[in-house]
Amino acid sequence: MGETMSRRLKLQLGGDADMEERAFPNPFPDYEAAAAVPAEEPPRARSQLTPDELGLPFHSDGKIINNFTRRIQTKIKDLLQQMEEGLKTADPHDCSAYTGWTGIALLYLQLYRVTCDQTYLLRSLDYVKRTLRNLNGRRVTFLCGDAGPLAVGAVVYHKLRSDYESQECITKLLQLQRAIVCRDSDLPDELLQGRAGYLYALLYVSTEMGPGAVCGSAVKEVVDAIIESGKALSREEKKAERCPLLYQWHRKQYVGAAHGMAGIYYMLMQPAAKVDQETLTEMVKPSIDYMRHKRFRSGNYPSSLSNETDRLVHWCHGAPGVIHMLMQAYKVFKEEKYLKEAMECSDVIWQRGLLRKGYGICHGTAGNGYSFLSLYHLTRDKKYLYRACKVWLALFTSSPTSWPQRHHGFQHLNSALHRGIQRCKKTTERSNWTRSHRVA
Ligand SMILES: [Zn+2]
Repeated sequence: MGETMSRRLKLQLGGDADMEERAFPNPFPDYEAAAAVPAEEPPRARSQLTPDELGLPFHSDGKIINNFTRRIQTKIKDLLQQMEEGLKTADPHDCSAYTGWTGIALLYLQLYRVTCDQTYLLRSLDYVKRTLRNLNGRRVTFLCGDAGPLAVGAVVYHKLRSDYESQECITKLLQLQRAIVCRDSDLPDELLQGRAGYLYALLYVSTEMGPGAVCGSAVKEVVDAIIESGKALSREEKKAERCPLLYQWHRKQYVGAAHGMAGIYYMLMQPAAKVDQETLTEMVKPSIDYMRHKRFRSGNYPSSLSNETDRLVHWCHGAPGVIHMLMQAYKVFKEEKYLKEAMECSDVIWQRGLLRKGYGICHGTAGNGYSFLSLYHLTRDKKYLYRACKVWLALFTSSPTSWPQRHHGFQHLNSALHRGIQRCKKTTERSNWTRSHRVA
């Protein structure tokens, strides 16, 4: 215990330098201060920021001001052009939603949703066709495997009223299920490569196309397999009392959204997963509470249960991923403590979330900005809308220094900030992501 404390203290002392290395200092005042200052009279100390950047980019009812909307729209146009140019030299075989062509299809699908412009839907279809010709049978999840292209394909064809093609995608998606529920399989349970990632695909299709699109028994079998697997590890580790559903990836009990328990519990709490109330209360809730006790004093979360280092503020590892689980727990269990901790996650992200790693959703600033939008949708507290808008400004206008310019992924913040409903996650990195996600 003493050793642990002194290590924590040491980490805290060295923390500032480490933070500087990972994130830009946030140049903006927080909402309360900004709301108190008339936009046209920025104080001298903040004279490096324009009034628009200092002031509130929305009206008192939360409607975004026209000027800000125009800036976002113009930027989307520019970035789409840059992206299309960059795609000419992109890896033709990467069809994943995470780093490849399905992610581009999802982006156009989201643009269609926001603008109702049919050309975006047809563009999405172009990319869907390309991915469906290149299924590789290696992985099974929405983000990294064949379930992504198949689920997005089903939805795009459905929107185009091509029911035969849509159904064909769903049939192929369901064919993957045997490998998912097989008891002897060594498939993990997490979101990027495991069962929860396949469950995401099923729920995505039923959310987009209606509850009848995927049969309930298919969902139930996958949910049961995830629960059985969590119970088995919990028994093995003798944690059945404290953490009835325990999960690991590469023999490590990860916490975050991508590889860890936050992502798995988040999926199990989705209404469409139809987990029964008793399992939610008796198994999921105590497991979430067990995980909550591992959080750092800062409000951030460790990458794994055994990790003591308060370092990463990413969607994949840290508060920006865990916050979504906490918000979902608040919706399901209606206990204030979950919302309070989600707000504390948001404070950590505001202070340490302008990442130097780039734009991406998984371990970039877009994914971190996304958490503010989600919290705004839940609470309607304009503080979080303000934070989301400022993150957008930090990314695309007043960037403190040059941001890494890579294609893929940077476009998401635009569409996410514009509407922010679709959960499509991608990253800028095209290789070695598995290695980069494992945290020593
Ligand atoms: Zn990541």
